[in-house]
Amino acid sequence: MVEPRSTDVVIAGAGYVGLATAVALKASAPHLSVTVIDAAPTGVWRNDTRASAIAAAASRMLDRLGCWDSILPEAQPINEMIVTDSRTSDPVRPVFLTFNGEIEPGEPFAHMVENRILNASLRAKADALGVTFIEGAPVDGFEHGEAHLIVNYADGKSLATRLLIAADGVKSRLRDMAGIKTVNWEYGQSGIVCTVAHERPHHGRAEEHFLPAGPFAILPLTGNRSSLVWTERTADAERLINEDDFLFDAELEQRFGLKLGELRVEGARKSFPLGLTLARDFVKPRFALAGDAAHGIHPIAGQGLNLGFKDAAALAETIVDADRLGLDIGSIAVLERYQTWRRFDTVQMGVTTDVLNRLFSNDSVPVRALRDFGLGLVERMPRLKGFFIRQAAGLSTTAKIAAGPADLGRGLNYSGLGY
Ligand SMILES: Cc1cc2nc3c(=O)[nH]c(=O)nc-3n(C[C@H](O)[C@H](O)[C@H](O)COP(=O)(O)OP(=O)(O)OC[C@H]3O[C@@H](n4cnc5c(N)ncnc54)[C@H](O)[C@@H]3O)c2cc1C
Repeated sequence: MVEPRSTDVVIAGAGYVGLATAVALKASAPHLSVTVIDAAPTGVWRNDTRASAIAAAASRMLDRLGCWDSILPEAQPINEMIVTDSRTSDPVRPVFLTFNGEIEPGEPFAHMVENRILNASLRAKADALGVTFIEGAPVDGFEHGEAHLIVNYADGKSLATRLLIAADGVKSRLRDMAGIKTVNWEYGQSGIVCTVAHERPHHGRAEEHFLPAGPFAILPLTGNRSSLVWTERTADAERLINEDDFLFDAELEQRFGLKLGELRVEGARKSFPLGLTLARDFVKPRFALAGDAAHGIHPIAGQGLNLGFKDAAALAETIVDADRLGLDIGSIAVLERYQTWRRFDTVQMGVTTDVLNRLFSNDSVPVRALRDFGLGLVERMPRLKGFFIRQAAGLSTTAKIAAGPADLGRGLNYSGLGY
């Protein structure tokens, strides 16, 4: 394939957010040329053993982008969710809060989807829409021209563009290159992620066990399998990851229990250091951040990727609108609309997950009593529970208000993406 010398939009990063942005742009404005450049070699995502909770708002968007049909057969609906709060060694984990998983009849508030399936679907759609890919080629710099940017990648190659979108993850090098500062701190915790096969069916039930080191989430996958997001202090997580199978399984069993029968870890165990990173600006002239490059949050509420999908939809809407009006898609006046649209929602979610993590990842007796009282109160208030479910589904009123003017009854409507 001949690589283009210039393109309307360059997206650095072929992760979920970079791909979703490319698809959303090409679906609404096929005449715009879009090039995605990724540091990783082709197909590396096939080894991603993680799974994500995809909120209803995000699955509606993926549906409008023509991706959901290929994902749905391999997506596990979350039919029910329980929340417990106990010490690791406690023999029983009393349930403080239960949620019925539907936001509308027949529509669960979230599905669990394996990341490789999500990526394959977005990638196939991007290819079909004519997005150009350059892989195994990190973006290593960019310079401002008259009415364009020159993006440098892979040791000396370059490409002129009207707009560079950085979707290069939480440690974004492009964010640093653009001189954008962050608010950032580490939690001293890591999330151990692995897939567990079990003897008995989970019936679509998700479980969030609050333990002193942090949340231990059991998230249902298709078949008799679950995905774990197991938070530990970073040193303990490193020890567990390198533990031999017998000792790891014993630690797992203590937290998971045997209610689903014998457990067997499938594939690799990985751990991810957890922190909060919020970019102070999302845009500069001809430059925009999206996804984890703009906001890395704690996975306690499973919302990181869902926020990134909202960025993708809002950014695509902003660019397509400007293009329709004949405006310069890389001008700061255009890009500030995207920033205003997305910043409040992401800061709000970042702060919420931070507070939840501090409240639930500790063993202080008064704090435990207070939070258990709070959970019990929510359990007795169906309207409040309904509010939390809509938050988790990405369909809350505050998310809509934060999103800006294009608010339709069933969520947001970015360029007809039906989000
Ligand atoms: C333990 C854990 C569990 C999670 N669970 C959930 C969940 O259930 N639900 C949910 O919504 N979210 C969840 N998240 C968050 C979610 O995984 C992230 O929000 C999401 O992966 C971010 O996607 P992204 O595309 O922004 O970045 P990434 O997935 O990090 O992709 C970045 C891409 O940029 C590329 N890249 C990097 N540098 C360059 C460069 N210089 N040039 C070109 N390309 C580059 C990389 O190769 C990569 O392909 C979880 C996170 C963790 C850590």
